[in-house]
Amino acid sequence: MEIFTEAASLQNWLKNKKNKTGKSGFVPTMGALHQGHISLINHSVGKGETCIVSIFVNPTQFNNSVDFEKYPRPLKNDIETLQASGCHCLYLPAVEEIYPSNNSITDDYEIGYLENILEGKYRPGHFKGVVQIVNILLQIVKPDILYLGIKDFQQCLVLKDMIAKKELPVIVETLPIFRENSGLAMSSRNMRLSAAQKEKAALLYASLCKIKKQIAPGEVAHLAKKEEQFLNEYGFKTDYITIADAATLEPVKTWDGTNKLVALVAAYLGEVRLIDNLILP
Ligand code: AMP
Repeated sequence: MEIFTEAASLQNWLKNKKNKTGKSGFVPTMGALHQGHISLINHSVGKGETCIVSIFVNPTQFNNSVDFEKYPRPLKNDIETLQASGCHCLYLPAVEEIYPSNNSITDDYEIGYLENILEGKYRPGHFKGVVQIVNILLQIVKPDILYLGIKDFQQCLVLKDMIAKKELPVIVETLPIFRENSGLAMSSRNMRLSAAQKEKAALLYASLCKIKKQIAPGEVAHLAKKEEQFLNEYGFKTDYITIADAATLEPVKTWDGTNKLVALVAAYLGEVRLIDNLILP
């Protein structure tokens, strides 16, 4: 596996890299890699693409400086994991490489409705930072396919919309959530949980599953309300647990049984903020 810290050397290498499919797949990450990330890489490698992974803890998408500082950065482990995964190249830029002068966000793309609801509401500025970094990385890597995990459901919608509106020449493939045996969605932030917290964190998925089991046409909002109470009684501090239209993320209070829904949750366990979601019904 090649490792590049500079865009120019990465691009030079990509120019000469050939494979049978003629395609490249890109998996942007913030590192602290786990099986969820690897499942995206496996997908690209399995299709015979040149697979590029980036690790960059993007400062502009953190609204909370403590979260940014505490974000795990086990680089040595990550490089070993990537080497074993069959990915062909790691792009590992420094902050100065990505944002040469400053971190100010200048982009004419308007995120719209998705910017200020759910994750956007609780993490102001987050999606502006995400859109900014993915744009920069796509311009550098120029992949044929961009792989995203639906673990970050709202992020997938924001990025798909941005790519469509800007007519960027890349196909987006979204892949399912990889979970622990307990049901807990794998996340880099899980590293910050104690063993007991990790066990408890599986209740987030359990709550989503209860909603999925009970949902039926008619009033549905009470199902989320009940799970919010349940999680808070168990020591979570719930930012939201809600049922929304899976295509638009508009909240759904009463369901006519036709459109696809998604249940989404974000909650703190101690200092660690966790998110999860489940497609319904
Ligand atoms: P991150 O490093 O958290 O920015 O994630 C990088 C990519 O991996 C994003 O597209 C995430 O949605 C995806 N991802 C993170 N966790 C999981 C998971 N448990 N299963 C599948 N994909 C994931």
